[in-house]
Amino acid sequence: MSGIQKFFKKILPVNWAESMEKESSEWNFRCSECGFERSVWESGGIRWKATGETKTKANCASCEKNTWHKIYRKN
Ligand SMILES: [Zn+2]
Repeated sequence: MSGIQKFFKKILPVNWAESMEKESSEWNFRCSECGFERSVWESGGIRWKATGETKTKANCASCEKNTWHKIYRKN
């Protein structure tokens, strides 16, 4: 877990923390360059109580470039 994830797990009630982890795992980052995908939670991030797709610049773990990543909810 990343520092930010640990922080929220510590301060939130257990059921909230579980909901946060579950929801964050349902969102994926997808690299616009190579198509590599990874869940937001695995990437050390948090996405909770969010709707809609968005884009962010991030370092891709696969092609190692700073590329646009689409954030979308699986299923
Ligand atoms: Zn990539």
